[in-house]
Amino acid sequence: MDGGEGMASIGIAGAGLLGRLLAWRLSRAGHRVTVFDPAAQAAPTFDGQGAAAFSAAGMLSPVAELESASPGVARLGLRSIALWREIAAALPGSPFFAQQGSLLLAHGSDLAAAERVLERVRQAAEPGLAAQPLDQARLRQIEPALAGIAHAWLLAGEAQIDTLGVMAGLYEGATGVGWRFGAAVAQIEAGRLQVRGEGWQGFDTVFDVRGVGARPDVPVRGVRGETVWLHAPGVELARPVRLLHPRHRVYIVPRPDGELIIGASQIESEDRSPVSLKTAVELMTAAHSVLPQLSEARIIRLDRNLRPALPDHEPHTDVGDGLIRINGLFRHGWLLAPALVDDVLAAARLLGAGQPQRASMPA
Ligand SMILES: Cc1cc2nc3c(=O)[nH]c(=O)nc-3n(C[C@H](O)[C@H](O)[C@H](O)COP(=O)(O)OP(=O)(O)OC[C@H]3O[C@@H](n4cnc5c(N)ncnc54)[C@H](O)[C@@H]3O)c2cc1C
Repeated sequence: MDGGEGMASIGIAGAGLLGRLLAWRLSRAGHRVTVFDPAAQAAPTFDGQGAAAFSAAGMLSPVAELESASPGVARLGLRSIALWREIAAALPGSPFFAQQGSLLLAHGSDLAAAERVLERVRQAAEPGLAAQPLDQARLRQIEPALAGIAHAWLLAGEAQIDTLGVMAGLYEGATGVGWRFGAAVAQIEAGRLQVRGEGWQGFDTVFDVRGVGARPDVPVRGVRGETVWLHAPGVELARPVRLLHPRHRVYIVPRPDGELIIGASQIESEDRSPVSLKTAVELMTAAHSVLPQLSEARIIRLDRNLRPALPDHEPHTDVGDGLIRINGLFRHGWLLAPALVDDVLAAARLLGAGQPQRASMPA
């Protein structure tokens, strides 16, 4: 430690979701923070490179994700939703956050497949988190645009967040942070890191949050995900929806200003090349089957990126003396990040008692 009492010098490798959230929290706690990332700039480039965080739809779905995730992920997710509400309100630009639940949908012929998914969710969910079936009258009342759908269930506590707005807000709001773009971290050890082509730099604590870029120090792999971004100002959808289909899961996430994101493929590949025709057709066909009103929507972006996954598909944190690693956020990074970061900073004693930022965060 140096500088003021309790103030530490912090080096963060990675300016993705975790890196920006850490930088924001730590700078507000009075630490001296420098962030390193190979990206040329803070803003997204949508070229398949850089942070997965920019490609995410921003679904905060602790219950729906139980189909493929552990109950521990759901519990962290529920805590994170409460934290995101506070964080989004505190960021420059007040990025959009909404907690109006999400819907699971099935066409008439797909009910059996949908019931199998619902059963898995039911078994894993804690009491009170079950999916509530909606009859046609109730569905028409809360989502008139979905009147043609045969079966619908409401997951009441789920939420969504404007990922691009939050990424920009964390960057702009992290006062005093040194941002080193165009700086790939080649080596990390306790208390120091080395940017490619430069000498070692020392810090009290170094964070390794490089996502897929943390290999070979972390046994992480990338899992390709593709999305379609639409502009459809006439299509009114109040909350994210997921279609339970025998072959694929497709979600539609409404954003402010008439934008919608359709996602996402999940492919065991580190291919960062543009979106395939097959995925684009499947995603758009499924979304159109839910919302035929999308016919005249304009395709504003086809995007892809790699989700950082560890072998067990669970998030892992390793809090050591002078070196902290967080990785494996896989398909739930936005769902998990605030609670994970809170737990890690508390374990590392980097947000001591009396820090106003900590006090303002729900536990
Ligand atoms: C298509 C898609 C849809 C998704 N949808 C959702 C969703 O709806 N809800 C949800 O909860 N999650 C979603 N996710 C998952 C979420 O985006 C990730 O879990 C999350 O971004 C992981 O955060 P991270 O900080 O670990 O990694 P990233 O956000 O990938 O950031 C890693 C950073 O490390 C940098 N880096 C790499 N190598 C180096 C190096 N050598 N030195 C320094 N920096 C380096 C990268 O440039 C990057 O900026 C989605 C992901 C994808 C791809």
